Amino acid sequence: MAGALEKFGAEGAAYQPETLAIRAGQERSQFGEHAEALYLTSSFVFKSAAEAARRFSGEETGNVYARFSNPTVSMFEERLAALEGAEACVATASGMAAIMATVLAHLKQGDHIVASNSLFGATVQLFSNILARTGITTTFVAQTDPAAWEAAIRPETKLFFLETPSNPLTEIADIRALTVIAKARGILVAVDNCFCTPILQKPLELGADLVIHSATKYLDGQGRVLGGAVCGAKKLTDEVFKYLRTAGPTLSAFNAWVLLKGLETLKLRVEAQAANAAQLATWLEAHPKVERVYYPGLPSHPQYELAQRQQKSGGAIVSFVVKGGREQAWTVVDHCQLLSITANLGDTKTTITHPASTTHGRITPEARAAAGIGEGLLRIAVGLESVLDLQADLERGLAQI
Ligand SMILES: *Cc1c(COP(=O)(O)O)cnc(C)c1O
Repeated sequence: MAGALEKFGAEGAAYQPETLAIRAGQERSQFGEHAEALYLTSSFVFKSAAEAARRFSGEETGNVYARFSNPTVSMFEERLAALEGAEACVATASGMAAIMATVLAHLKQGDHIVASNSLFGATVQLFSNILARTGITTTFVAQTDPAAWEAAIRPETKLFFLETPSNPLTEIADIRALTVIAKARGILVAVDNCFCTPILQKPLELGADLVIHSATKYLDGQGRVLGGAVCGAKKLTDEVFKYLRTAGPTLSAFNAWVLLKGLETLKLRVEAQAANAAQLATWLEAHPKVERVYYPGLPSHPQYELAQRQQKSGGAIVSFVVKGGREQAWTVVDHCQLLSITANLGDTKTTITHPASTTHGRITPEARAAAGIGEGLLRIAVGLESVLDLQADLERGLAQI
């Protein structure tokens, strides 16, 4: 639970992001450790029966039990809150735990969600299967069409849920336009900011109420741990905290400690990965074996202007369509010696995936076609290797087509 902004200047503006990423949230113990301490303890001891009673009743703040809070987790929460320009942040065991906690903390049976139809696969499953069973229903609409969001609103709509840019086609939702529509009707807006991170996009500044992270991706950035977070006004994150402390999917202290170290290099990594991605996208677009490139940093992207306004750069995810179909796309994948064949993203190591047969393999071919996920489509999550080596690796397969 963060007081990050009190310590780091009104609205977090007093320090630059790279400073906040390294300094915000740190609390030193009596030992004066320079690096953040890892508190591996599941519970905390009280000085007296009266102190225990005050802590349990909430009359006095302080740690009680690690399902409620832990000092290492609190440092991570304060640091991420400072970076997002949020009043508060609560950490969760994974990105999915953050999404589930947000919905179950703020919605109840009978409530309705309007969500983008190009969300992360597990989020779609969560909304359409698990939450639907609890009586919370979802209407999925086109990410890029604010009028469709407005038309889907019902009296019982409580939440707009979006993820921009989307995976794998990098569609951009106009966060400001959607928050204007939602605000007029008292609907909360939650943005999954996994792909951009606060380094490239600040949804709260654009009017969103809650920002959600899979910390597993760029915040760790080195493929080590699972984690998640929800950032926003304290009165909204307090509800998420109440849900978490009872339901249990809290972040482990060890993972929080790894994530604190991940955040310290977030700006360097994300900017360098995005610069690599921009170069790779430009090269792919000019390649004779490539039919089309999806990258918000290219002027050919249908929402280039909006992306320029809303994001600091195009980010580090590049998708492209090779000429031909599945056979040709698989040829590129199978000739990679450097790129990792995995659906994970946000890592220093560049990854490549064929969405139609992996992340989007279980949806029907018709639904895939409707979503624009063709057989020739490949998605690359660009890491920190030399672009020259990444190009050479892709060229090995492209030359075979
Ligand atoms: C990975 C991912 C999630 C889920 O996060 P986990 O940490 O794997 O639970 C949610 N949203 C997006 C955009 C993701 O890429």
